[in-house]
Amino acid sequence: TTRIVLASRPHGEPTQENFRTETVDLPEPAAGEALLETLYLSLDPYMRGRMSDAPSYAAPVEIDATMVGATVSRVVQSTDDALSPGDVVLGYGGWQTHSVEKVKHLRRLDPQGAPLTTALGVLGMPGFTAYSGLLTIGQPKPGETVVVAAATGPVGSAVGQIARIKGARAVGIAGGPEKVAHLKELGFDAAIDHRAPDFAEQLAAATPDGIDVYFENVGGQVWDAVLRRLNTYARVPVCGLVAGYNATSLPEGPDRSGVLMATILRKSLTVRGFIQTEFAPTQTEDFVRDMSGWLADGQVQYREDVVEGLDHTVEAFQGLLQGRNFGKLVVKVAD
Ligand code: NDP
Repeated sequence: TTRIVLASRPHGEPTQENFRTETVDLPEPAAGEALLETLYLSLDPYMRGRMSDAPSYAAPVEIDATMVGATVSRVVQSTDDALSPGDVVLGYGGWQTHSVEKVKHLRRLDPQGAPLTTALGVLGMPGFTAYSGLLTIGQPKPGETVVVAAATGPVGSAVGQIARIKGARAVGIAGGPEKVAHLKELGFDAAIDHRAPDFAEQLAAATPDGIDVYFENVGGQVWDAVLRRLNTYARVPVCGLVAGYNATSLPEGPDRSGVLMATILRKSLTVRGFIQTEFAPTQTEDFVRDMSGWLADGQVQYREDVVEGLDHTVEAFQGLLQGRNFGKLVVKVAD
């Protein structure tokens, strides 16, 4: 079996040298465990946090340990009758060709149902993040304006499409003209490029009535421009700050936290961070029902970016934090 371990902690952007590929013997499953062959590995921005030992909501990956990640896998051998060889499961196998996992932590997938990769994207953790964060914290109302960045990614694209289903106006922000064009195909009411030199003016033109919900995925310059457009009683679910995940120092310029707090006060803003696991026990059932329905009737569409081969994992992950992915990033590890 081949696996990618964390060799050292990245300073700034992760490099190939921060990882090491190893080949080891196939592990044996103990009682209650199954041996799995990885078919698809999900790459997600949170993995940058696991490479760091800075304080976080989850423990870091240890040096020399296999990088973590959600996987769709085929059962090779199981010590528990609940699974048989050939079954396909959602698990947390990490950056490797095979894994041994506890059967009780695995969820069987229906190969005749939705495409298997959707369990890592629109019907999985990122889709759930969009659903729970937008509806619980953002609470979009008909006619309101919802803005989201990283809008062609699995979280952002679901946020915009769910906002429209709820009768709101969806404004998507993405990097580059191809992604902006895709947002219009998805039905976003307006789409703008955060790399454009006149981004702040474009944002103002796209939000003539201000912003009622800003689903925060990125931070950085996008947030600076959005803050000025927020309406009184606007809601800001703080989901991610991907623009800063590779940062090694505070941003240039004066400390703006005073301006931020004054705006929160003056406009009665609700700024609320969340980790999707908070909502999983109470909202997963509603999510699966609603999202499956929206996919079936075409109200939600999704896009995937499938990279072939475990040996391209590090490069693909580097691209994720720079916007080189276009849609939910997945590594196809085996057929
Ligand atoms: P994406 O597939 O959308 O990938 C990240 C995207 O961020 C890139 O493709 C890029 O898109 C955009 N980006 C990167 N740098 C910048 C920048 N400087 N300014 C603006 N945009 C930038 O990822 P996901 O949909 O998986 O995740 C989106 C966010 O949600 C992340 O912040 C992630 O950490 C967070 N998240 C949070 C969870 C939670 O429980 N709180 C759970 C899951 C995800 P572009 O080319 O358009 O700029």
